[in-house]
Amino acid sequence: MINVNNFSSAAQSGSQYVLAPLPYTDHALEPVISAHTLSFHYGRHHNTYVTNLNNLVKDTDLAGKSLEEIIEATAGQADKAGIFNNAAQVWNHMFYWHSLSPSGGGEPSAALKQKIEASFGSLDACKKEFAAAAMTQFGSGWAWLVLDGDKIAIAKTANADSPLTKNLRPLLTIDVWEHAYYLDYQNRRIDYVNTILDKLINWNFAEANLG
Ligand code: MN
Repeated sequence: MINVNNFSSAAQSGSQYVLAPLPYTDHALEPVISAHTLSFHYGRHHNTYVTNLNNLVKDTDLAGKSLEEIIEATAGQADKAGIFNNAAQVWNHMFYWHSLSPSGGGEPSAALKQKIEASFGSLDACKKEFAAAAMTQFGSGWAWLVLDGDKIAIAKTANADSPLTKNLRPLLTIDVWEHAYYLDYQNRRIDYVNTILDKLINWNFAEANLG
């Protein structure tokens, strides 16, 4: 299992999973993502995954394990799909909030840009491939910038699925479930994705995740 960041400790208090704090206020991502969207997405959707996870693992041998341990232990097991989905969605959402920043967008550091250029040819090509993955993820899911071996690559996952189970190290993600953008962009997923890539994407977080 690839270990990225220390999200599990922020998501746990004793044996209970808790809603980890947002790294900014509800209004911080406006006008790209409205406070209305953020408050529903974080306060209702993300929070519901936390509540469900607590209910599902209570009195099982998974209670009190880290999110990564639960994700690893339940991935691909049909009888554990509910636990996997909720644990992975808690993790994915924490990763998504940190993938965005009010001071994001623009260009990565010279070191990260060079690594991106080595993998994609140009930063623009990387962003285009990232947006294409977000657009072609049919239905609900996630688009990811990942480290695959020593190469930076793009991935997409359906529903709650995670690159962690595919031996890929997540660097950034964009949530493409409709709840992430519908209040602000309705069916225009492409506008949501491109505006995030131009204005909010947190290249510093990607660089920190290179490990
Ligand atoms: Mn979401």
